[in-house]
Amino acid sequence: MSEHVLVAGSGIAGLGAALALGGTRRVTLVDRDSAAPGGDAEDAFAHWERRGATQLRHSHVFLGRLTTLIQERYPDLLKDLTEAGARVFTFEDGLPPPLRDGYSASPGDEDLSILFSRRTTLELVMRRYVLRQHNVTFLNDAGVRGLSIDGTRVLGLKVERDGTTQDMLADVIVDATGRNTSFPDWLREAGFSISEEERPAGILYFTRHYKLKDGAEEPVRDGTPGAGDLGYIKFGVFPADNRHFSITLAVPEIETELRMAVMKPEVFDAICDAIPGCARWIDRDRAGPASQVFAMGNLKSTWRRFDPRLEGFFAIGDAAVRTNPLYGRGCSAGIVHAHILREVLDSVQNPLARAAKFEIDTRKALRPFYDSMVRQDKQAIRRAANERDPHYKPSFRARAIKSLVEDAIGPATRGDIGTLRAFSRAFHMIDDPNEWWKKPGTVARLLGFWATPERIKRERGFYPPKFGPERAEMLERLQLRSSR
Ligand SMILES: Cc1cc2nc3c(=O)[nH]c(=O)nc-3n(C[C@H](O)[C@H](O)[C@H](O)COP(=O)(O)OP(=O)(O)OC[C@H]3O[C@@H](n4cnc5c(N)ncnc54)[C@H](O)[C@@H]3O)c2cc1C
Repeated sequence: MSEHVLVAGSGIAGLGAALALGGTRRVTLVDRDSAAPGGDAEDAFAHWERRGATQLRHSHVFLGRLTTLIQERYPDLLKDLTEAGARVFTFEDGLPPPLRDGYSASPGDEDLSILFSRRTTLELVMRRYVLRQHNVTFLNDAGVRGLSIDGTRVLGLKVERDGTTQDMLADVIVDATGRNTSFPDWLREAGFSISEEERPAGILYFTRHYKLKDGAEEPVRDGTPGAGDLGYIKFGVFPADNRHFSITLAVPEIETELRMAVMKPEVFDAICDAIPGCARWIDRDRAGPASQVFAMGNLKSTWRRFDPRLEGFFAIGDAAVRTNPLYGRGCSAGIVHAHILREVLDSVQNPLARAAKFEIDTRKALRPFYDSMVRQDKQAIRRAANERDPHYKPSFRARAIKSLVEDAIGPATRGDIGTLRAFSRAFHMIDDPNEWWKKPGTVARLLGFWATPERIKRERGFYPPKFGPERAEMLERLQLRSSR
């Protein structure tokens, strides 16, 4: 008889587990939240209550790693997604203007497509797709309250539904309860060790959704950046399904005045109006708001390592590895993680050997992304503090790094297709983010761009237009006072 897998949580990683395991095993997903409402993507966006996944209505981008996985393994799911209004935005679609004319496709470019979709649409469609598999069952409005454990073996979950708690047993227990998982506490109480690394993301997230007006189109992709970092604020435009898009403003935690003010829709829009890459999207003739401003804090990066003695238990997705949302990696990581679990369960039978292999394979697949993200977050937190200091004088090293990013890497990714491919493969979680620049020829090309006079780079369109106003100018526009 095939194994029964009991998954706590039916968010992205839980759905990934159902996709990965549903073909070969019996899978039961238990979630505290209610099932998706009937109806279409608009109904899900308007009405789906998800207190267990409060990030649901924040901007989500789905990177090449996830898009390719769906495209290759679940082509019918991709068909369902596009029928529901989601769009595949290819590498070619996103080329910067200087690279468009001479472009010819190269093997691997197909891995660099983004899926444009609201998170509610993706979850709704994945859920319906998974439900069509006869051996996958969902149990909603069912909160997991604890574990049944015998010695070192996890036997099941204590599940509360309609006021009563029952033990649900299975061969394999999976924690996919996301960023606020209680499993580490329950396991510690039972005598197991769970090690936890935690790093601050240093930002708060503010998102507002918009919809294109009848007859209006998305702005032409003329090279104006739809995402960028002004130091005191990061911005991103997220095209989505069914003429929707959202904008996220990520404000450093230390920017107290700004982060208090940005919650007000009129201030949010005024900030967007001051940033050319956002302003063109929310031009009042083009689009109108489709939501309030959603805020989210407590953004941390977390890496958990579970006791190697644990048998029959695995944590996937945010419950094991949680990342700063700014990098758009969480959903790709969660679904990749679920597929790692499938490979481990297929190839190894001994429970302790399974736990050991799962740990090694997880580390190999996800740790490089975690490490590079934590390093970049540290730099961003430092930069945000410097932005507030009128007397700040950057060191020689800081100036050299800034120049490397702005005068070499930036122009090379706009002017050289090889560099753009190498960079994009890391961005989309396909290649190691610490290694992309080490590809043959990339260093030489980067140095070549660095050495090219700025005037020539500018003439050739290798510099993006200015992202937006300096901090003091923005605060003045918004009539905010800086505390420093
Ligand atoms: C603001 C923000 C923006 C983000 N943007 C992006 C992005 O652009 N791209 C991207 O790839 N990722 C993004 N992420 C990350 C992404 O949302 C997560 O990585 C992803 O949802 C993780 O999936 P998960 O299944 O592990 O957790 P979740 O999707 O959070 O699902 C957890 C599930 O467990 C259920 N649950 C929780 N506790 C219990 C319990 N006790 N009993 C039963 N059920 C329970 C919840 O109801 C929920 O359904 C973002 C995250 C945040 C916070």
